[in-house]
Amino acid sequence: MTANQIRQAFLDFFASKGHTIVPSAPIVVKNDPTLMFTNAGMNQFKDIFLGEAPVNSPRVADTQRCLRVSGKHNDLEEVGIDTYHHTMFEMLGNWSFGDYFKKEAIAWSWELLTEVLKIDKSRLYVTIFEGDEKEGLPKDQEAFDFWKALVPEDHILLGNKKDNFWEMGETGPCGPCSEIHYDNRSEAERAKVSGAKLVNADDPQVIEIWNNVFMQFNRLKNGSLQPLPAQHVDTGMGFERLVRVIQGKFSNYDTDVFTPMIDFIAQKSGKKYNADAIAGDGDWNAAVAMRVLADHIRAVSFAIADGQLPSNNKAGYVIRRILRRAVRYQYQYLGFKEPFLNQLVPLLAQQFHGVFDELWNQRDFVQKVILEEEASFLRTLENGINRFNNYIADQKGQCIAGAFAFELSDTYGFPLDLTELMAREKGFDVDTTGFETALHEQKARSRAAGAIDTGDWVILKDDDTVEFTGYDETETVAHVVKYRKV
Ligand code: ATP
Ligand code: MG
Ligand code: MG
Ligand code: MG
Repeated sequence: MTANQIRQAFLDFFASKGHTIVPSAPIVVKNDPTLMFTNAGMNQFKDIFLGEAPVNSPRVADTQRCLRVSGKHNDLEEVGIDTYHHTMFEMLGNWSFGDYFKKEAIAWSWELLTEVLKIDKSRLYVTIFEGDEKEGLPKDQEAFDFWKALVPEDHILLGNKKDNFWEMGETGPCGPCSEIHYDNRSEAERAKVSGAKLVNADDPQVIEIWNNVFMQFNRLKNGSLQPLPAQHVDTGMGFERLVRVIQGKFSNYDTDVFTPMIDFIAQKSGKKYNADAIAGDGDWNAAVAMRVLADHIRAVSFAIADGQLPSNNKAGYVIRRILRRAVRYQYQYLGFKEPFLNQLVPLLAQQFHGVFDELWNQRDFVQKVILEEEASFLRTLENGINRFNNYIADQKGQCIAGAFAFELSDTYGFPLDLTELMAREKGFDVDTTGFETALHEQKARSRAAGAIDTGDWVILKDDDTVEFTGYDETETVAHVVKYRKV
């Protein structure tokens, strides 16, 4: 099955179980001080769970584009290093708002995975909440019993509060969850350990694919739990991971979600993608770089398409950091000395045409913004890398001074996490406290100088368009260029 067919199979399955299929919310969250980016399918339904919004349909399902690069969920450091954490990913989800509960949710997830999608049952493991006496939380015996009717007992594992109990915040709806994991290790390796140890073996070939949350309690301010009057189901399944399992691959990047991009990057850089490279191999850095590019272009493109331009503060700076991280990788490990990342936009837009048309409809604009960002960062990148290398060469200890990290940021535009990443590659730490101090000192200085913090992009008037003669001179993009970099 292709990725598109798998997504459709998920949606069709839940439609056949009476679910209304709803669109993905934007990846960029506006008007919520607690959240910059959508990081889970349930975000758009938060008010329903809090009892503050009406329920239009008690059963819904969708594919939600998510971003996990900040706040509570930040997977950025794993991306490209491992093969199953992305910045932007699709979370497939089904919800019951006061309608069905554990029995149906468990039975349907099993039916979909094993009967419709035909995943090998013997490689699936499920987890349930073991309970926590200190916190007064009961074991989820109900979930255990429903699973027991479907899977052998040695494939049901007990999980602790950290992994198997979900809370929206310090107060509010919460409840146990039940995860489904897939074990893709070789028979020989699996034979070495058995039962419960398999899932917890911390092996990159054993991955979590689906989380089913059962909201049944309301946590009050005094910490006590009350049963919720209406119980809800909230599930989230990583689409790219599901595709990997169904397509029988060992890496998300080997599925058709990513291969068009990986192939294009390999072709244009003249380097072969070595999916099996391990840290220390000669082609490890290039392999990581290719995965990073194939991943980061998605986060950056969808954020821009959903209205978040790169900038110097808040959500805009998160996007700029991701973009600069990609540019540094392509420059240093793939040999791209000129803007390249933006060339992936047409491929990505094509891939999501008919799924998330926000990108397709704005593809020229998105590409143009990325091109300009790349060009702007490339102007200082080489000097910054040289400065960094000279500094490291002179260094006796293993720590980069905060003041130097700040200089890289202030003069060369290196976000702190990029400096940290480059430092790690050389076995160095960064004094982040020293960096913060230098940053605050500078802020105080500019406040004193009366500086006003403006964004980096200004909205132009309709007639004030910019002529663009970049990647394709035959294409008239002037009408979509509504912003110009300042
Ligand atoms: P993990 O333990 O692998 O980091 P998680 O427990 O943080 O996953 P959940 O918050 O339970 O993830 O999200 C539901 C599902 O979304 C997961 O089961 C997984 O399939 C998928 N998922 C989570 N984070 C990512 C990511 N960064 N990239 C791709 N898929 C993800
Ligand atoms: Mg996680
Ligand atoms: Mg997990
Ligand atoms: Mg989880």
